[in-house]
Amino acid sequence: MSNEAMVIDYKYCTGCHACEISCQNEKGLKDGEWGMKLTEHGPKKLNGKWFWDYVPVPSKICDLCVDRRAEGKVAPCTLHCLAQCMQIVAIEDLPATLADMGEEVAVFIP
Ligand code: SF4
Ligand code: SF4
Repeated sequence: MSNEAMVIDYKYCTGCHACEISCQNEKGLKDGEWGMKLTEHGPKKLNGKWFWDYVPVPSKICDLCVDRRAEGKVAPCTLHCLAQCMQIVAIEDLPATLADMGEEVAVFIP
């Protein structure tokens, strides 16, 4: 298990697909292969309130771009996310990071 995690604050995700495409480009993936896949939930009505969420989900291909980041670069998905709703954090920083973020947050640990 990695000692880092990707934290996705999907309440700010606009569904732009930039994370998917930049990851495909970085990893040289073919059509239909995904390091990150944008999923869509809704529209649905729950407890009288409508919701329609975009949730980017890393796949088993995602290695948090450890080699690229070791060169001092940023993971392309986080770099190109205009909503800045994804970050890679050390596991030990996870509780403090999540405490600041509120609800509608996903955590991925490869
Ligand atoms: S961290 Fe790298 S491998 Fe993982 S989803 Fe982002 S671009 Fe793809
Ligand atoms: S790049 Fe950011 S805003 Fe766009 S789909 Fe991915 S997570 Fe959502």
